[in-house]
Amino acid sequence: MDTLAVKWSAMDRLLGHSGPFAGSDFVTDDDDSVKQFIRYECRVLVVGAGALGCEMLKSLAMCGFSQLHVVDVDTIDLSNLNRQFLFREPDMGQSKAEVAARALQRRVPSCRVQAHHVDLTTLTPEFYRQFHVVVAGLDSIEARRWLNATLVSLVQCEHDAETPDPSTVIPMVDGGTEGLAGQARVILPRLSACFECTLSLFPMEARAFPLCTLASTPRLPEHCIEYASAVLWPQSERGRDAPLDVHDPGQVQWVYERAVERAEAFGIGGVTYALTLGVLRGVVPAVASTNAMIGSACALEVLKLATHLARPLNDWMAYNGAHGVYVYPFANERRPDCAVCGRPAPLRLRLPRSATLNDLLEVVAAHAELRARRPSIVSDSRPLYMATPPALQEATRVNLPKRLADQLQLPSRAADRLEYLLSLTDPSMPLGRQLLVVLEEADAAQPATDDTVEREA
Ligand SMILES: [Zn+2]
Repeated sequence: MDTLAVKWSAMDRLLGHSGPFAGSDFVTDDDDSVKQFIRYECRVLVVGAGALGCEMLKSLAMCGFSQLHVVDVDTIDLSNLNRQFLFREPDMGQSKAEVAARALQRRVPSCRVQAHHVDLTTLTPEFYRQFHVVVAGLDSIEARRWLNATLVSLVQCEHDAETPDPSTVIPMVDGGTEGLAGQARVILPRLSACFECTLSLFPMEARAFPLCTLASTPRLPEHCIEYASAVLWPQSERGRDAPLDVHDPGQVQWVYERAVERAEAFGIGGVTYALTLGVLRGVVPAVASTNAMIGSACALEVLKLATHLARPLNDWMAYNGAHGVYVYPFANERRPDCAVCGRPAPLRLRLPRSATLNDLLEVVAAHAELRARRPSIVSDSRPLYMATPPALQEATRVNLPKRLADQLQLPSRAADRLEYLLSLTDPSMPLGRQLLVVLEEADAAQPATDDTVEREA
């Protein structure tokens, strides 16, 4: 049997019933059992009740799914109302999850929606285990990575410790939009490519650029904005007392003006107030029609998974509405060395021998496979730097400017280079990652970039 056939036979076992339009074993009586399943049994979790989440909830309810749960920690803001259509002006300040649940139940009385006004990362694995399908309408890569790793960790393997037990596989249907572009994908944890398998396909966020690029070789308007907020603001009179408040229009204006000055100095165009806001808050202008399309595409995938109406997407659909209307599907492959669903080898990072701990943190933030924005680094169970809790962060911050070579034990190999095995954790990587840090003589090592990173054989 080829890989796909294995995957679909696993899905048959996972869902435990045949669909009305697929398969030679279709019998009309199943029609009712499918309806029963959708209405009374199939528990669907929607993560995120923002613009995409509202669309997903609406489409799922209109499809007949009646056992919905929704998780979102946010509250409703005036700026949400133009596209998050389950919310109205009097709802401002209230929980998105709770208001969305109430609005949906008013519109589709047969649908039961349970709201969870919490941070998704505070929910236990047992909470996630109760669902048949999880649908993600999230606005950050970090949250998707966390959710993906959690769902992968719920898969139990059969006695050979290799073959996933399909009854423990919870499909993740992930939607994402950015302006006029969007994507929908189906992840069958440990059966198909997971989110982490394809992490390097996502562009790096502006905020992940290493400080040295921002300081010496800015090329993009985003570099100038980031420099103004990350470097100039802390040096300013107000910035010395308090971190930048990205919701304060006066402070955003200040950053915008400094970014314009810097862009002019380097001959870079394109710094606008809207872009400044986008970079600072990590958002791009939202387009309601893109969210509607991707939300319904995701709901359709859930319907296919739950009914076998047709085979689900294999496994990624990209939509671009910026230049005409362009839709194409794409099949990703699992990475055998995926840090979440595979067997990862330590990731090898080459740095100059003079590199400090802070240099290493910049590298792991900018690395396409790590993107660790709040990393903690441990060596031989001794914390070198801990991002949380605050007391440990305070205690380990002193290590940042120190040279790595001075802080670590004797190297595993004495030669022209020093090698160290370090453990990296980050909120987006619940499973962590082993790093093989190689410190080389200054003339042997380039500044660590993607090009200089190799995988350990
Ligand atoms: Zn993977």
